[in-house]
Amino acid sequence: MKKYFFLFVILFLLWLLTSCGGAAPVEEPITEEVPAEEPAAEAEESPYENPPESISPLYVHEESIWKSNIIDLCWENPNQNNQADRVLIQSAIENTWEAVSLVDFVGWGACTPESKGIRIQLSDEPPQTKGLGTNIDSLENGMILNTTFNHWGCVDVNGNRVPCIFPYKGYSREDYIRISAVHEFGHALGFAHEQNRIDSPSWCDLQQGADGTMPIGGWDLNSVMNYCNPQWGGDGKLSEMDIIGVQRVYGAKRIEKERKKFDGLFEKPHFGE
Ligand SMILES: [Zn+2]
Repeated sequence: MKKYFFLFVILFLLWLLTSCGGAAPVEEPITEEVPAEEPAAEAEESPYENPPESISPLYVHEESIWKSNIIDLCWENPNQNNQADRVLIQSAIENTWEAVSLVDFVGWGACTPESKGIRIQLSDEPPQTKGLGTNIDSLENGMILNTTFNHWGCVDVNGNRVPCIFPYKGYSREDYIRISAVHEFGHALGFAHEQNRIDSPSWCDLQQGADGTMPIGGWDLNSVMNYCNPQWGGDGKLSEMDIIGVQRVYGAKRIEKERKKFDGLFEKPHFGE
């Protein structure tokens, strides 16, 4: 009996170590990295040249997957000044995660103390989610998104953080909002950083934040969840594997219009219904 108790304690400690629901927020290293100007130095090792045969994208934290595809969402601090930015964020999500899967974020109004689901605070700090998937369910300020970028997002030639003046390295302020929102919503759906996977190549050593539990299939350099993506944040556009990944977890959108748009992808045999 004692043996089982120790086994349980060890398993519990392991769970604590790997859990994303802990105190440490999933802070964004894009703080330091973004936007990447050049691909990683040892690009010749890039998986582009040896594409994995199996495709099973994203790094899912299985226990944090939402039970329903319909997920409540609210803003902690909506006001007139950030209205256009909120519209932009909503549109970015509608055109990515929601466009290809059955995920439907509903509400988008002001939070109340009782609000459930994802609660977004707009604040000039590193974009982050304070856990993966359902770990931020009903959590006040569970997701932080930045729309002003005076204290995060840009550095001078010496690497010191400075208020952003856009365009910055070819990005507009709207690009920053859109790209970081798509990434953070990936976390909110239960996806960890792709580069945290154990099969991440050695040149990609930007591991950060909570790990997933299901690193199956090929590592995806193009994922919006991969800091090593030579295109910062995948430019806020889901990679082919991101699309397949979110569809595998939450179901594929099958309406005719979307089917046409993603026709090539729907032909792949890997899709579940
Ligand atoms: Zn992240």
